[in-house]
Amino acid sequence: MITALGKPMPRCNLSVVLCLLLVSVTARAAEAPIALVIHGGAGVADRAQMTPEREASYRAGLTAAVDAGYAVLQRGGSSLDAVATAVRMMEDDPQFNAGRGAALNDDGDAELDAAIMDGNGPRAGAVAGVWHVRNPVDLARLVMDRSPHVLLVGAGAEEFALEQGVVLVPRSYFRTRARIAELAEEQQGAAEKGKAPAGNPKGTVGAVALDRAGNLAAATSTGGLANKHAGRVGDSPIIGAGTYANNQSCAVSGTGDGEYFMRQVVAYDICALVAYRHLTLEQAVTEVIHEKLRATGGTGGVIAVDPAGNIVMDFNTVGMFRAARDSRGRRDIAVYRDK
Ligand code: ASP
Repeated sequence: MITALGKPMPRCNLSVVLCLLLVSVTARAAEAPIALVIHGGAGVADRAQMTPEREASYRAGLTAAVDAGYAVLQRGGSSLDAVATAVRMMEDDPQFNAGRGAALNDDGDAELDAAIMDGNGPRAGAVAGVWHVRNPVDLARLVMDRSPHVLLVGAGAEEFALEQGVVLVPRSYFRTRARIAELAEEQQGAAEKGKAPAGNPKGTVGAVALDRAGNLAAATSTGGLANKHAGRVGDSPIIGAGTYANNQSCAVSGTGDGEYFMRQVVAYDICALVAYRHLTLEQAVTEVIHEKLRATGGTGGVIAVDPAGNIVMDFNTVGMFRAARDSRGRRDIAVYRDK
């Protein structure tokens, strides 16, 4: 190799330069933050009603899901794969209100909603009111990746699942004994009070992540509210309401009273405050969850992450099942405000 002065560059210099380049590239990759945050719903029972066994079981479910999703990021995987992995695990865990063990509607069926969003693009896919899809988050991903649409519902969504080779399961797969009992209780309560059924939100699942490439993603999956009217769709599959991701601002997954989250476009509102008013992620979440949502009587919480890897998990309920891991060494599993 010839230098600018026309002299041959000494070999040792070239290898030093290459070495330095390699070191700086590796260091930059190692420095790029990664983070995964998950929730298992804001419908946490009061401490007095929560048994230590149940709490331990929820914590174990959260730990398994956050570790599985975080392992994807550690291997250099995408934030989309990480959120899908974590949500899929919680859909398969019957204690959460998503996939198997989802809350039942007033016909006694699980009617499932899910969404996934790629902050790079951004791109999004969602399904609502499906009855036979074991992992609705995966079908939402297929809608995003293999269709020109964002949201497919009911029979059309299931037809799309069949076209994509997704194996459907019978409705009985989702109906656990605990959810059948919960529905009976809700219906009895509604009959006694003589008012329209409106179950408490319980155990919806979601995840948000930042990967090494700087891409954000969010996913949410739910059975909605126990004893909801057949055909009711909540905020979870509505892009901007319960799920949102944009690499320019943040990624959010919500849980709580879906109707309030939809009317206030909660997830998008948080990211808009970050993008347009330049609030920190924490300030934006505080304003939306503790001021705007509370002012209308809406209850719930969100998990959120921004491009710098800042994590926020906040709620205006008694608690929110949640967990977080990041490359700064954070590893939190929590249920109530004080963990
Ligand atoms: N947000 C969900 C819904 O309204 C319920 C929940 O978060 O538990 O469908």
